[in-house]
Amino acid sequence: MLFFNVPYVPMVSERFNHIIGNLDMKISYTGTNKLNKFIKVHKDSLPKNAHNNVVYKISCGDCDASYVGQTKRSLKTRIGEHRNHITRNTIQRSVITDHRLLDHEFLWDDVEILDEEPFLSKRLVSEMIFIKRQVNSLNLQSGTENLDHVYTPTIEKMIKL
Ligand SMILES: [Zn+2]
Repeated sequence: MLFFNVPYVPMVSERFNHIIGNLDMKISYTGTNKLNKFIKVHKDSLPKNAHNNVVYKISCGDCDASYVGQTKRSLKTRIGEHRNHITRNTIQRSVITDHRLLDHEFLWDDVEILDEEPFLSKRLVSEMIFIKRQVNSLNLQSGTENLDHVYTPTIEKMIKL
């Protein structure tokens, strides 16, 4: 049994509980209505793109589609990969590239930082929650598949401990 402690987010946490219902996993929630702690406000001088350990959202400029991802590297590096994927000869599919091929373009200079979290397991939970909160998500995985994918590295790490 795995235990995760994540911040409580009204509505989202209930749906999240439902998603993990069948898995051998327990989620506990920190506090109630502590959304302000969850979505941290940073008043630092670091340029947005230089931040790392982030959960981010890329929005389409031509429709309401968006994509949520996370990276431990700088936002700039990760966004550059998304953006340049279309020009590289790669067999790896990209939902972002697929969307751009519809003649839609993303707001590359207006990528949102949704969360900053240095711990991978917490960052993945945060990513998962924000994926679910999108209006028109380009993220491929359905809830459980995504969760399995999301937790695989964490579970592997825990097994090795
Ligand atoms: Zn679009």
